[in-house]
Amino acid sequence: MNKILEIDMQNMVAVVQPGLINMDLQNAAAEVGLMYPPDPASEAYSTLGGNVSENAGGMRAAKYGITKDYVMALRAVRSNGDIIRAGKRTIKDVAGYNIAGILIASEGTLAVLTEITLKLIPKPKYTKGYMGIFPSVDDAMNAVFKSLALGANPVAMEFMDALVVQALKEKLGVDLPAEAGALLIGDVDGNVPEEVAFQLETLEASFKANNAQSFIVARDEAHRNELWYARRNASPAITIFGNKKLNEDISVPRSMLPKALENIYAIGKKYNFKVPCFGHAGDGNIHVNVMVEDGSDEEALHRGHQAIEEIFQMVVDMGGTLSGEHGIGTSKAPFMGIAFNDMEIQLFKDIKKSFDPNNILNPGKMGLPN
Ligand SMILES: Cc1cc2nc3c(=O)[nH]c(=O)nc-3n(C[C@H](O)[C@H](O)[C@H](O)COP(=O)(O)OP(=O)(O)OC[C@H]3O[C@@H](n4cnc5c(N)ncnc54)[C@H](O)[C@@H]3O)c2cc1C
Repeated sequence: MNKILEIDMQNMVAVVQPGLINMDLQNAAAEVGLMYPPDPASEAYSTLGGNVSENAGGMRAAKYGITKDYVMALRAVRSNGDIIRAGKRTIKDVAGYNIAGILIASEGTLAVLTEITLKLIPKPKYTKGYMGIFPSVDDAMNAVFKSLALGANPVAMEFMDALVVQALKEKLGVDLPAEAGALLIGDVDGNVPEEVAFQLETLEASFKANNAQSFIVARDEAHRNELWYARRNASPAITIFGNKKLNEDISVPRSMLPKALENIYAIGKKYNFKVPCFGHAGDGNIHVNVMVEDGSDEEALHRGHQAIEEIFQMVVDMGGTLSGEHGIGTSKAPFMGIAFNDMEIQLFKDIKKSFDPNNILNPGKMGLPN
């Protein structure tokens, strides 16, 4: 089930089957001058059914939002074979419960999606890449706050810390200053060059006001890809710190990022791990990597999981969430009790039961009964 069933230019929607690869929809939309913005790093092989079921985010979330912002309607099949039609091809629809909203991010526990109607938007004509290099994480985060408050609306604002910079230099030979304490990489876009120029000027002024050592604008597409190389390779590069990566994708209100990162590094120190962090500073979602030097060391793994549990508790206490975009699945299921109280978990169970009374759809995921 991997077909595009329709691209409706008047309503700017695409109707697709759930097995369609994300990138195939992005390409088809671009061919008619439109854009499907959600772009998880797995865009070349993840499916729209999987994206909706996980409510995937991506690099462009800072400006364009996440999968749920584009789902207009769903067709799904319950475990007893009943067909659900949820949502409409209309901008407004307040009749009845928002069943599509319940199915989004339900990780396949409630029904099988069989048809997805997604909003498309006009594709901006101009895009430019940028990179800012900062002496510290706090400077980089303050630059994020400042530039957004001044009206910058970057497509992406990706963050990497000093450990990631070290790994990129040592493992991949990326040309970055050794003293860099943090990087911000991203894109700005617009329909006229002046709009892009305004974005870049605002970012440059805000970055420099927050001690940026340099602000680089990509000369052309090849240079933009070079800048992005650092971000795209952050995950493979950090394996210099250990062969087992316990990676989580916590999310906090953006303003809490500096404090959350300070606490994460302190927890890493307490449990004796390097914890390189990178992620989406523009939207408060950070990939936290507790690096276990030797993954076959049971004691170290146990300590790593203790560190993760402490990080989750700290994040939830700050008003954040266990997962910004990857979902709960089975690995984070044991931590659901940190984020939700008994009544809330019972509500999840009741919802699961009303969709799937015999519990045959992904039992055990999200900590729901198995
Ligand atoms: C290298 C890499 C990079 C990633 N980067 C990102 C990122 O930047 N942002 C992000 O948000 N995520 C990211 N992810 C996570 C993952 O790509 C996304 O969650 C993606 O949306 C999963 O899609 P999939 O097709 O692989 O789904 P799968 O992994 O196959 O399925 C995910 C879940 O959805 C359920 N499901 C799938 N199809 C249906 C259907 N038709 N009906 C009901 N349930 C269904 C499955 O049962 C499963 O529980 C990344 C993953 C990898 C491996």
